[in-house]
Parts: sequence; structure tokens; C-alpha cells
Amino acid sequence: MGKERGFMEIERRDPGYRPVEERVKDYRAVERQFSSTQLVEQATRCMDCGIPFCCSTGCPLANVIPEFNDLVYKERWQDALDMLLLTNPFPEFTGRICPAPCETSCTLGINRDPVAIRQIEVSIVENAFRRGLLEAEPPSRRHDARIAVVGSGPAGLATADVLNRHGYNVVVFEKNRYPGGLLRYGIPDFKLEKWVVERRIKLMEDEGVVFETGVDVGLDLSSKYLLDRFDAVVLSAGAEKPRDLPIPGRDLEGIHFAMDFLSQQNRRISGEEIKSEEISARDKHVIVIGGGDTGSDCVGTSNRQGATGVTQLEILAEPPENRPAETPWPLWPLSRRDSSSHKEGCERRWSVQTEEFVGNQGRVSKLKCCEVEWDTPQDGGRPVPRKVKGSDFLLPADLVFLSMGFTGPATNKLVDDLELQLDPRGNIQRDGDHRTSHPGVFVAGDMTHGASLVVRAINDGVQTARSVMNCLKPTDR
Ligand SMILES: Cc1cc2nc3c(=O)[nH]c(=O)nc-3n(C[C@H](O)[C@H](O)[C@H](O)COP(=O)(O)OP(=O)(O)OC[C@H]3O[C@@H](n4cnc5c(N)ncnc54)[C@H](O)[C@@H]3O)c2cc1C
Ligand code: SF4
Repeated sequence: MGKERGFMEIERRDPGYRPVEERVKDYRAVERQFSSTQLVEQATRCMDCGIPFCCSTGCPLANVIPEFNDLVYKERWQDALDMLLLTNPFPEFTGRICPAPCETSCTLGINRDPVAIRQIEVSIVENAFRRGLLEAEPPSRRHDARIAVVGSGPAGLATADVLNRHGYNVVVFEKNRYPGGLLRYGIPDFKLEKWVVERRIKLMEDEGVVFETGVDVGLDLSSKYLLDRFDAVVLSAGAEKPRDLPIPGRDLEGIHFAMDFLSQQNRRISGEEIKSEEISARDKHVIVIGGGDTGSDCVGTSNRQGATGVTQLEILAEPPENRPAETPWPLWPLSRRDSSSHKEGCERRWSVQTEEFVGNQGRVSKLKCCEVEWDTPQDGGRPVPRKVKGSDFLLPADLVFLSMGFTGPATNKLVDDLELQLDPRGNIQRDGDHRTSHPGVFVAGDMTHGASLVVRAINDGVQTARSVMNCLKPTDR
């Protein structure tokens, strides 16, 4: 344990965010980080409660949180880093963008502010990079076996990293120009600057992972090619099919899927060529349909592009401000969250259903909406929306982003060629060993469990890599 009574003497402090008026003028990271002194002080607040729900219930990676807090308190930086890397291959990503379910299950959080675990995590790893404690460590011995990983998002990167560290020869195929998946082309720079992703890719390359980018597997390479040349294939191609809103007026101009907008802005910042129609929020009133994180990223990006106003609509009822009784500690609380993007300017509306897009000369100009209430069926099934009589209203709109989640992997020739079985929700089905219905083909991340979180994708990649190693012939191990 760190300092006795530290949790009673020291209040939680967060490094905070850059001022709104400054940060909306650029795309750099909005969040600040702890200084070394603040880091030690905040780690001291961990009370080593005995049953650390932060690791067991909260963190999907089961990060060994009390131990790394104690090592930070003792300023044993290398040991703190090693403890962190024991369970988490990429703390520089999770430390920046994880919603931190560890903190909502921190014991201290029962009656005080929880330990600032996510910020401690990113500070440990950034401190390590600064001090030169984190450098390439290629494996000392190589096996003959070759593994192909399709898709370079967090799941594919984690799979490749674990296999490579165990001495397997790994080639990651990625259809985009740069590796990183949604870390690179979905999550905006103001949450995760891309040099952070590039630094990790470079480290992995120096350790022996080969990245083949600009290769759309299924189109540019056949399944036969991969199965003939590799001992195992891991699919980690994400859940790229967006949920649509097929209501009247859907074909009007000015209505886009959120990812078309977000990935375009990320490409623009990286100096990549934009091959599709340019989407700009400048001088437009933007409506974002869908109240989740992707929608919030559209809000932040629209404000930076100079939108005149942004409204975000959510069909669900507004959650309570504080932890509701249905999700008691240490569960993830279903309470209202306002992101840094919301605080930059956005009207949020709840219990709103969009019924029609209204156009003017072929372009969207208004949304016809109504309010809904949610009824719980008598059999206890999922609540269903009911239109509130007389609640119709019109909203002006120059640009609309559909951000209502994803329904599974995008149409993929590789999946068709391999005749992979899907689960009832349209994701790639797998068994308890992460194997698909095709021998030698495994699947990881959003492609199998549906759109989720970076921390879950990383965890799934790590577990899938272990399954691959267990399933390889003993001579290959
Ligand atoms: C806009 C947005 C913001 C988000 N923000 C957060 C956040 O703040 N925090 C958080 O925890 N989670 C966030 N998420 C969720 C998180 O990004 C995903 O859950 C996670 O990236 C999934 O990882 P993955 O590796 O399974 O898939 P992905 O990251 O989707 O990677 C899949 C990769 O496979 C590639 N690919 C697909 N098909 C092929 C093919 N045929 N050949 C070659 N390559 C192919 C794709 O190009 C892509 O690079 C966000 C998601 C979105 C969309
Ligand atoms: S990965 Fe996420 S849940 Fe796990 S310790 Fe880090 S911030 Fe918490």
C-alpha cells in the first residue's frame, strides 16, 4: 500500500482540459496530463482496499491497479511500467480514451471521489517513454509458424503484439493507408493524437511485426492465398456497417453516416487525399442523430469546423445525473455523461424520434420529429417507445449525421469466401477458443462481439492470440 491515510488526506485532482475557447480552434488533444508530482500524489490515494473491484469488476483487462499505484507512490517507474504492461499492451491508448469502468468500481468511490486511475495509467506510460524505459524488445527466438492478422485496429494490434512477443512471425494486413483502425480513422485527434498511434506502430515494427497496408483482404488477396501461406489467420476487421435510418427523405443531400465525416477529418489532418465528396460543417446547423460517443465526436468535429450550431438527438430518455439504484456500485452506472465535446457547445435533446427528413431543392433543410415515452411490456421485455400525442415539431438542419451504432462487419468478400457462420446479430460466430467455423481462422474484437470499446478490443486480441498459440501444432509452438 502507498501512503497510509493518503485517501483521507488528499483530494482527487484531475489535470483537466484546455479552455474551450482555445481548444475549439484546433484538433490537438483537449485533455491535460499530470505532472510527476501530481501523479505520485494521486496514486497515494489508493487505499489498497483488499478486494480491488477496480481490477476484478471494472477493468476488462484486469489491470493490477493497486500494485501500480503503490509502485508510483514509491517512484519505482520501471516496476510501475512493467506492472502495467503485464496486462495492458497499449496503456497509452486506454489511458487517453477508456471510459474507465475501473474508476466507477473503485472502493474509494463509494463515498468519495475515486482514484484517478485512467490518468495515472497514461502518466506511467508517457513518463516511461520520456525516460527511455519503453524501447523495442524483439523476441530472442523465432518459431517457423506464420500468422496473418486482418485489420489493424486495437484488436488486431493486440493479437499481433502478443504473438510477435512469443516469437511468431506476424503479418498484419490493413486496407487503409495507415494502421490503427478506429484509433486512426474514427476517434478524433482531439481525443487521441495520431502520433501516439504511429509511435506504437513503429515500436511494433521494430520488434518484428510486418504491416502490409493498402491491402483489402478478400479483394486484393484471396482467402486461399492467406490459408496457403499462413499457419493461422486472425480476422479483426471491426464492425463497420453503420445502422441506417430508412425514413422518408433519407436520400436527400446533406445526410451522412457519422464515420464518413469523422474519418474524412482525420485523413485531412494527416494530409491524406480525400477521395470522396468533401463534408464540411462550416456555417451549417448540424443535427447529430444518436446520443453516444460517436455522436459526441461529431459534435466536437462540427464545432471545430465552424458549425453555426449543433443539436444532438437521442431517442432514449435522459439518464439521471447520479448513479441510479438499478446500477449500484461497483457496476457501471447508467447515468448521464457530458463529454468534453458537449461542453464546447451543443444542445442535447432526449426522448426524440426523427420521423422524416424534409428537403428543399434536393437538400435536407428540416427534420420532422416527435417526442416519445418508453413503456415497459408487462412480460418484463425491453422497453418500447410510444409517440407522445401532439408532440410533433420541426428542427432546422443543413447537415445531418447518422450516429446510431453499427450492425456488424461490413460486407466482406473474405467472410463470404470462407462461408463463415454468423451469429443471430450478424457478427462472426466463434467458439470458446476464438475459432470461426472455418479451420485455422480465428476472429477478434468488434467483428465478433459487435461495436464496443478499445479496452475490450485489446483484451479480446490478447485472448485470441493465446487461443491461436494453444491451437497451433506443438512443433510450431
Ligand atoms: C467514432 C468512434 C469513436 C470511438 N471512441 C471510443 C472511445 O473514445 N473509447 C473507446 O474505448 N472506444 C471508442 N470507440 C470504439 C472503438 O474504437 C472500437 O470498439 C475498437 O476500435 C474496435 O477495435 P477492432 O480492432 O475490433 O476494430 P477496428 O478498430 O474497427 O479496426 C478494424 C480494422 O480492420 C480493417 N479492415 C476491415 N476490413 C478489412 C479488409 N477486408 N482487409 C483489410 N483490413 C480490413 C479496417 O480498415 C480497420 O482498420 C469509438 C468508435 C467510433 C466509431
Ligand atoms: S484500461 Fe480502462 S478500465 Fe482498465 S485500468 Fe485503464 S482506464 Fe481503467
